[in-house]
Amino acid sequence: MVDTPFANAPLVPATNDAAPLLDVRGLSVSFGHGPAAVRLVDNVSFAVGAGERVALVGESGSGKSVTAQALMRLNPHMQVSGVVQIGGCNLVALSDKEMTAERGASIGMVFQDPMSSLDPLMTIGDQVAETLRLRGVSAAAARARALRVLDELRVDRAAERLAAYPHEFSGGMRQRVVIAMALIGEPKVLIADEPTTALDVRVQERVLDLLYSVSKERGLAVLLITHDMGIVAGFADRVMVMYAGRIIEQNDVEPLFASPRHPYTQGLLGAIPRIDQKREQLQSIPGAPPTPFTRPPGCHFNPRCAMAMEICRKDYPAMIETGSARVACHIHGGGHA
Ligand code: SF4
Repeated sequence: MVDTPFANAPLVPATNDAAPLLDVRGLSVSFGHGPAAVRLVDNVSFAVGAGERVALVGESGSGKSVTAQALMRLNPHMQVSGVVQIGGCNLVALSDKEMTAERGASIGMVFQDPMSSLDPLMTIGDQVAETLRLRGVSAAAARARALRVLDELRVDRAAERLAAYPHEFSGGMRQRVVIAMALIGEPKVLIADEPTTALDVRVQERVLDLLYSVSKERGLAVLLITHDMGIVAGFADRVMVMYAGRIIEQNDVEPLFASPRHPYTQGLLGAIPRIDQKREQLQSIPGAPPTPFTRPPGCHFNPRCAMAMEICRKDYPAMIETGSARVACHIHGGGHA
């Protein structure tokens, strides 16, 4: 085994790069082939810059987790098209072997349930160091690096706990270990798919604070997948709202919360309970989101939309820019997509 130059690289790379680190264009994801193919994600485009935290929100089945899996190319049964550019490399065009090398190196992922990401029979130290060991870094150097990243993520008594097993950690500490596993290869982009859903509220806050500061310190581009608009408000710089496989609105977090443009976004925000609000004032969105088999023609939200017009049942609306927002809704003009 050799100690590669990578093993001695600074843990916190400096970056002031304003260009997008993650540039996604025309991403579509289908299962199956030919007439039986089902499109789960349809022509999604977005970018995330260095040190930026972008939230991808929507109801269950909207396509947000499928988008995350497609960026990582985790499911070999998915047909993925479009461009996923990180540092000049289009991940969609890579061979399976090349993509395996990119996971952890240019793009990392944190999943919802830390227990499902951890091997109960391996020590924490070995699991965090594994990415580096697979790259040929010596056991001693990989272990030293694992300790540094666990320290950075404020895992208590990290040195003595390298030899511990996952069941000896609390839920919050386990999620820190999973974040350490995702970060030890120093990826430029981190996808966090509902990373705090399995945690109680206080631990949730600490884990999000940690992700926030790591993103700032490392210049990491973070894509947070969540259905929780409360988390979005405290964590993200920018929000993308997804419905039935498409992004229907994007904006900076403050204007999106202050003045949502799309009727679906208005419904999502209207459904958040507020302390100064009576229960009967809470709004809900009527009906249920369509499945990929039951998406209606035109705007996919039209059966649930109180403002639907004739054109909404025929043409899917184009994404148009209005102020800092991008929105796909006929009310805001722009014709069909
Ligand atoms: Fe409603 Fe029409 Fe806008 Fe869709 S395009 S959200 S149906 S108004």
